[in-house]
Amino acid sequence: INRSGNQIREDFLRFFEGKGHRRVHSSSLVPANDPTLLFTNAGMNQFKDVFLGAEKRDYSRATTSQKCVRAGGKHNDLENVGFTRRHHTFFEMLGNFSFGDYFKKDAIAYAWELLTSPDWFGIDTKKMYVTIFEGDAKVPRDAEAYQFWLDVGVPKERIFEMGAKDNFWAMGDTGPCGPCSEIYYDLGQAAGEDPSVDKLFGEDDARYVEIWNLVFMQFDRSSDGVLTPLPKPSIDTGMGLERIACVLQGVLSNFETDLFTPLIKRAEELTRHKVEADHEIDERSRASLRIIADHSRAATFLISDGVLPANEGRGYVLRKIMRRGIRHGRLLGQEKPFMHEMVYAVRDEMAAAYPELKETADRVAKVVLAEEQQFARTLELGLRQMTEETLRSGAAAFHLYETFGMPLDFMVDAARDAGVAFDMEGFEQARAEEQTRARASWKGGSQKTAAPVYRELPKTEFEGYSALRVDGARV
Ligand code: ATP
Ligand code: MG
Ligand code: MG
Ligand code: MG
Repeated sequence: INRSGNQIREDFLRFFEGKGHRRVHSSSLVPANDPTLLFTNAGMNQFKDVFLGAEKRDYSRATTSQKCVRAGGKHNDLENVGFTRRHHTFFEMLGNFSFGDYFKKDAIAYAWELLTSPDWFGIDTKKMYVTIFEGDAKVPRDAEAYQFWLDVGVPKERIFEMGAKDNFWAMGDTGPCGPCSEIYYDLGQAAGEDPSVDKLFGEDDARYVEIWNLVFMQFDRSSDGVLTPLPKPSIDTGMGLERIACVLQGVLSNFETDLFTPLIKRAEELTRHKVEADHEIDERSRASLRIIADHSRAATFLISDGVLPANEGRGYVLRKIMRRGIRHGRLLGQEKPFMHEMVYAVRDEMAAAYPELKETADRVAKVVLAEEQQFARTLELGLRQMTEETLRSGAAAFHLYETFGMPLDFMVDAARDAGVAFDMEGFEQARAEEQTRARASWKGGSQKTAAPVYRELPKTEFEGYSALRVDGARV
């Protein structure tokens, strides 16, 4: 490794300090005063009001390395993790921001300089592609960005025009937004050895990986979809540290960078699972180790920032992440609590950049251990009953859910792993019937007896699964 993940983070921040940016510390994963947001999902979140003109700072340029979690809400990557090379639930977003100061021209020039200058990242320009917004009914094609990319020397064959899905960025359904330009890196033919990789932009395991998004913040979107121009056009960029590390360390996956290999090794020790040397034989176990490493980071940082496992809201997403990690430990044969030990591995790797972990690690580990113990009790009862037949029948699955508190997402996940189609329709039907029965028996105030712990799951929990795609790369 010629440049460690820690070094890359530092280089990025130093580069932008050199361009007059104030280095600002990451904000918490729990957004301050923003009920529209589940977790901090981008570097710009902490500056939302500055973009909107509602808040003033004593600087007009900032640079950050921001803790982000994308496991719910508008940006949800939970189902991808472990099965793509480039998605995490928790990741660090490196960003530079202009609050009504510079705009497209400088943002593009800075990004290109950092990536290609031999004094900085020195990436071969022949391996990069950029995209611009092609325009739609509300916002015109981004001809300016196109020209500025040509100006820094990107040949026109390497500039692609894309639609709103990829090239119009919004932090949520409302709030600051604008057209964007993205920079892609070609992982090359080596990545092509895996046939699932040789796909077009935007696919899960694309040979071309998106590394950096430059957002030209121009509008505030209201809940009825109307775009109001911001007081001043601004810049918001985001580059995943894990992805740029993948590029600079010359590996094919974020999970092969030094940001992850120590965690994967530790997960391997704790689950006492030795991955087979043969890629084909044990891809499933490798995915489990990646998931444990990833989810340990997310759980550690979320709890450290004050989230606690619960049956709704943020706490529920945390619980789901932890249980998914625990379940993959079980797939590797580890039925005893182990995730709480991962907390210390995460601290050891990350405390240099996020010193708060030194203070919080013991408390975090306790919370994780308690969740592992509680979940083990639930599973002990429910798992014995969970078979492929149960998963195929919504009514049987509902019985498990109702009687043992077996979480729905757990069964859906298990069905996917077993290659069985989960009967969501039957499950919903059984649930509706139960609700009708329950309502009838509530007359006179006689509540049913104690509800299983996981009964009150929020409806939003189902979102990800209905959108699930069948993808050869998943195991
Ligand atoms: P993708 O299309 O790969 O899902 P995105 O377009 O959703 O990424 P942006 O919202 O543009 O991502 O975020 C800016 C940058 O943050 C991305 O260019 C990428 O480098 C990084 N990033 C986004 N999501 C993740 C994730 N789940 N894990 C790791 N890095 C991510
Ligand atoms: Mg995405
Ligand atoms: Mg994208
Ligand atoms: Mg993007």
